[in-house]
Amino acid sequence: MRKITLTPTPSCLSDKYKKTNKTVQEDRTERWIIKTQKKSNNWDWYELRNCLVVKLLEATQKHCAFCDKKFREDDLVQIEHFKPKVKYPKEAFEWSNLYAICPKCNSNKNKKYHEYLLKPDADNYQFNDNYEYKDRLSFELNSKNEKADKNIELYKLNRAELKKARKAEIKRLDDKITDLEKINYLETINLFLSNKPKQKNNLVSNFINKNINLLSYRNFILYYYNVN
Ligand SMILES: [Zn+2]
Repeated sequence: MRKITLTPTPSCLSDKYKKTNKTVQEDRTERWIIKTQKKSNNWDWYELRNCLVVKLLEATQKHCAFCDKKFREDDLVQIEHFKPKVKYPKEAFEWSNLYAICPKCNSNKNKKYHEYLLKPDADNYQFNDNYEYKDRLSFELNSKNEKADKNIELYKLNRAELKKARKAEIKRLDDKITDLEKINYLETINLFLSNKPKQKNNLVSNFINKNINLLSYRNFILYYYNVN
């Protein structure tokens, strides 16, 4: 769960209706509260969904906010209600309660919530304070505290599919680095011949930092290659 930056409330939520002088957010929240009182689960996004997905993806740089999966063009992106919309209807359209999420993380967490859960855009949230990788080969994420543990449990951040994906991302990056080495052939050969691990590390580190927004499972990759 990489750190993300909270973006301002988008205009599709903050715009006001001239007739009522209510914001879209206020209007939709009122309607949703009425629906939940009638025990209707009929969730109506109207025209809002597409706008919100675009804005949420900007905040996460096109990754799932919880498992870090990179969304491809035709992947389904869902909207996570951090506090579930059925139990917390007042926050159903609260911008700070919404995240871009992949369908697997979304269905794992479903309507569950716990006060310990960490938000990836919280002011004091940093990956390294809460999580670590201890083993390069198991691709397993370990929590450093009870709060971080809740995110692993509810979003299932060590599911087999994710461990496989972290492994695949390392392979993909290895191939890219090999290409990079081909491009910088002479430089790299000299580097390896001179046996200067620090410089090799810098080459990899620069490459990762340059491509940071493109990489999934970034924190595992940084750990795996032992770079900062
Ligand atoms: Zn996910």
